[in-house]
Amino acid sequence: MNLFDIGVNLTHKSFQKDRQEVINRAVEAGVDKIVLTGTSLRGSQEALKLAKESKCLYSTAGVHPHDAKTFTSKTISELRKLLKDDCCISVGECGLDFNRNFSPQDKQIECFTEHIHLANELKLPMFLHERDAFEDFYKILTATKNKEIKAVVHCFTGKKEHMQAYLDIGCYIGITGWICDERRGIELKNMLKDIPADRLMLETDAPFLTPRDMRPKPAKGRNEPAFLKHITIVAAAAIGKSPEQLAEETYQNSMSFFNL
Ligand SMILES: [Zn+2]
Repeated sequence: MNLFDIGVNLTHKSFQKDRQEVINRAVEAGVDKIVLTGTSLRGSQEALKLAKESKCLYSTAGVHPHDAKTFTSKTISELRKLLKDDCCISVGECGLDFNRNFSPQDKQIECFTEHIHLANELKLPMFLHERDAFEDFYKILTATKNKEIKAVVHCFTGKKEHMQAYLDIGCYIGITGWICDERRGIELKNMLKDIPADRLMLETDAPFLTPRDMRPKPAKGRNEPAFLKHITIVAAAAIGKSPEQLAEETYQNSMSFFNL
């Protein structure tokens, strides 16, 4: 079973000491393609550097809405440089997060809009983050993004009608170990079967969102890309297909999404 993890924060400090072992365990678990999420200019530079060291790694380049306050007129030209590299395959993570508002909303909107222009220009797929900001996010995305530019709403945990709206405009949906949470993840788990087979992709979002039902519990509660196998098994059971079939479908979706 080959697996493709579309979102891992491998530059996170919690991986500093054992990054190579984490990659090795992922490969052993069948995860042979991993996209490292860039969430700031510095983080995107580090992610690309790391991606270039290993055959199974790729990266994205973007500024997370939490970091939108660091976004300046120069940021886009720096991101553009990174995206010229064959290992840097997607614009993002970018979007809107009105849940915590770590950056002012008008700054988030400016930053998000500029990322969409960059994706349009470079004709690259987008790795998107939306939390508690559906109305503005949807409006900006539909008004600004060229139709042929692919986009994934990563770590989707929203409402069913929002998921449907994203699917209707051609978006892919990224699902994490959130579905393994017996308290908060039930609703999302039940929605999985409503995602067309050719629009679903899987991700760990490691080191965050450790699947809550893993036994034994992971050390320090840290999530890692090897756990994508567990998420695949849980998702497949919820949809009613074999893990092998779901792995195959989501792998192919991810390959074509990222133009690999
Ligand atoms: Zn995110």
